[in-house]
Amino acid sequence: MKRAMGEPSPTELQTRLLAWYDANRRDLPWRRTGNPYHILVAEYLLQRTRIVSGTPYYERFLRKFPTVQNLAAAPLDDVLTVWEGLGFYGRARSLHAAARAIVERHGGEIPQSFEELNALPGVGPYTAGAVGSIAFGLAVPAVDGNVTRVIARLFRIRDDVTTASVRRRVAEMAARLVSSDRPGAFNQAMMELGATVCTPTSPSCPRCPVERVCLARAAGEERELPMRRSPRSTPVVPVVFGLVTASGHVLLVRRPRGRLLGGLWALPGGERIGRSDKGDLVAAVRSQTGVDVEVAARWSRVNRTFSHRKWSGSIYRCTPRATPVERRAVRWLTREDALRLPLVPFHREAIEALAGIESYREAD
Ligand code: SF4
Repeated sequence: MKRAMGEPSPTELQTRLLAWYDANRRDLPWRRTGNPYHILVAEYLLQRTRIVSGTPYYERFLRKFPTVQNLAAAPLDDVLTVWEGLGFYGRARSLHAAARAIVERHGGEIPQSFEELNALPGVGPYTAGAVGSIAFGLAVPAVDGNVTRVIARLFRIRDDVTTASVRRRVAEMAARLVSSDRPGAFNQAMMELGATVCTPTSPSCPRCPVERVCLARAAGEERELPMRRSPRSTPVVPVVFGLVTASGHVLLVRRPRGRLLGGLWALPGGERIGRSDKGDLVAAVRSQTGVDVEVAARWSRVNRTFSHRKWSGSIYRCTPRATPVERRAVRWLTREDALRLPLVPFHREAIEALAGIESYREAD
């Protein structure tokens, strides 16, 4: 791709950005390692996660699964338990599947080519580019949201960056910019610039190392770019769940894979189909567990926001009409055993709160 008149030159951008990164980079645990497995874990764990929230998970994860072999050999429930509370549980399942693929297909060594990395479960061009450049020095780009914003501003791209054609253009520009000497440092410099200086709503241009060559800054458009079609509002979906208890036991179901919070254990219930909380709940518990329940008072309210929907509703205390029978994806467990499973976080809170209720056992 040819450079248009007035566009910043790759060499100048690389020199300025790398010097700035060397002097200003944040000291983060995954930047202190050259271990490809640790770098791979960080990339799965930290996507769409704030560093301050993700760092304790990264450290805990590697304490529990110090090698790719440990991770591949672990049951999925153990992986989900360490991941619980971080969200995006599909990534935990993909990382677990990737570890198994690495052991089975690559003899336990993280593959070193972009194509092989890109073929691992849950890995796309961003993760393959990040791991390939940081761990193995491949001169490939890693384009995430931060990098897209920086490129759109540097090159004053006035088209909608959410469209496939503009995304392709941004990826091509990123590929042209990446340093062949220090690709990992360059990609991290771009991400770091987007995270700390060229931020979404208030870019700090006066302290930016590439201000002098930034076309959006020159045009006074740094706050207008990148352009995106206006986001659709997040739908609010009514939900209802049952805290079904008797004799110190609680009823749990495993949420189906591929669905929101998939793979985690949960209270029965979910998104409401009909108009009545209680009627819907009785039907949902019966269809998910085979148990008929008596619905009692509301136990707590639910207000949770996910990336693409909001859940609003209630958890009700319920009593089973007969002792539940365990089967695949249905458990009838003591409170202590239930709390050992990877649980939907706000369902864990509801179960934990039972301990504070003096009448818990008597009420059962
Ligand atoms: Fe972003 Fe401003 Fe730097 Fe341009 S000058 S890259 S808009 S921070």
